[in-house]
Amino acid sequence: MLDAVVVGAGPNGLTAAVELARRGFSVAVFEARDTVGGGARTEELTLPGFRHDPCSAAHPLGINSPAFRAMPLDRYGLEWLQPPLPMAHPFLDGTAAVLSRSVAETAASFGPRDAGAYRRLVEPFLGKWDVLLRDFMSLPLSSLPRDPVTLARFGLSGLPPSTWLMRRFRDDRARALFAGLVAHVIAPLDGIITGGVGMVFALAAHARGWPVARGGSQSISDALTAYLLDLGGTVHTDYEVKRLDDLPPARAYVFDTSPTALAKIAGLGRAYAGYRYGSSVFKIDYALDGPVPWTAQEPRTAGTVQVGASSKEIGAALRAASREGRAPDAPFLITVQPSVVDPSRAPAGKHVFWAYGHVPGGWDGDLTDAIERQLERFAPGFRDRVLARATAGPPELAARNANYVGGDIACGAASGLQLLLRPKLSLFPYGTPHPAVFICSSATPPGPGVHGMSGHNAAKAVWRRLRSA
Ligand SMILES: Cc1cc2nc3c(=O)[nH]c(=O)nc-3n(C[C@H](O)[C@H](O)[C@H](O)COP(=O)(O)OP(=O)(O)OC[C@H]3O[C@@H](n4cnc5c(N)ncnc54)[C@H](O)[C@@H]3O)c2cc1C
Repeated sequence: MLDAVVVGAGPNGLTAAVELARRGFSVAVFEARDTVGGGARTEELTLPGFRHDPCSAAHPLGINSPAFRAMPLDRYGLEWLQPPLPMAHPFLDGTAAVLSRSVAETAASFGPRDAGAYRRLVEPFLGKWDVLLRDFMSLPLSSLPRDPVTLARFGLSGLPPSTWLMRRFRDDRARALFAGLVAHVIAPLDGIITGGVGMVFALAAHARGWPVARGGSQSISDALTAYLLDLGGTVHTDYEVKRLDDLPPARAYVFDTSPTALAKIAGLGRAYAGYRYGSSVFKIDYALDGPVPWTAQEPRTAGTVQVGASSKEIGAALRAASREGRAPDAPFLITVQPSVVDPSRAPAGKHVFWAYGHVPGGWDGDLTDAIERQLERFAPGFRDRVLARATAGPPELAARNANYVGGDIACGAASGLQLLLRPKLSLFPYGTPHPAVFICSSATPPGPGVHGMSGHNAAKAVWRRLRSA
């Protein structure tokens, strides 16, 4: 009899397994795909020698994760590479706002009218970031807040919609960059808690940057797996779990899956019938003949580049995909260019680059032309650099990973109360109606991203249960 079985080898499943194994519990992981990683993987999707990240590539949440930081992942090959600029947001006039490690440089890029407002927004939290992040990522109740005053202060700025918070800025440079930060969770800008989303990404950049992993995001998953194996855990790939009976006997079962799949596999009936899935993305991985020819200077050295001409255009793109059920005419793009800092990702002089725009869940059209038209506005000549492209819309994303229901890469709409309280309104979101079954995917707090904190929090619930049994 094993102590715990984990279903799914994404960052959260692997983190849950490691957390249990390092506390002396026997653990086995079962993964449907032939390799580990889930949303943190790397593949030659286009041409030989071009190593793409089909899902995550930029890791502000990974490098700041309290769970990852407490593990010796560097000994297992994980190395964070910092691009000169974490993020840049170019405009049509050839200039750019930036999210830099330095608050002063970031504030200056917004222009004199908003520099002070930005500093006043972030500075109260800078010296307290690690405690704040741990408290925020442990909500609702996996541990008591260590600094409730700072958490409450953060809540005052972060709980209201980002549109309120953006009123602090007088010009659109800061507003557009901030709107883009919120769009990383695919939430409409006027939804509650979206201010907090933007602030987390900004503070993460000032604290530890937005790095990429050397060799690609697969190295995060490989490091977690190697550490788990050293701790005595086992990993079985090519093993899709369809029923609880498919698994060996264990005292606890931990699911890195969607709540819907979990309910089906574990026979939980309508336990998660109210869970909502959200919008999707259309993603393109490019093999390029050279760097992206951005007009502005700053994006040329940034790991991540947000592409949206104004806060209005970004808001309209998000509304189209998430409320109006249509693909946006001018999609807001999140793009990542890992080979700016990691030459191992492409042959000499060549580059890998990815871009995605938001589309409704289940949308089956082709956004390639709209994405490339948008890129050409800020990087004329982009199309001439394209050697090959691999596209994936909602159906392809859903086929890659069962957690992307309808292509929802957040494994559940990250909007409204469900942004924070997922998969249901509960103070103990990692438990399920079955006393031996737990859920640890990004459908639980703190939600999407490669940070392993859902796995860490769920493992805590599991080891408390195992020790009390
Ligand atoms: C296009 C895209 C871009 C992204 N960009 C970023 C980014 O830059 N930075 C960032 O931090 N995050 C990013 N993300 C989000 C991030 O990848 C996810 O939030 C994260 O991977 C969630 O981790 P997880 O462990 O909860 O689930 P997943 O990573 O989805 O892993 C779940 C695993 O469970 C397996 N599984 C599911 N069902 C079963 C079953 N029945 N039996 C066995 N195995 C099963 C799946 O195959 C998968 O391996 C991106 C995601 C996508 C798709």
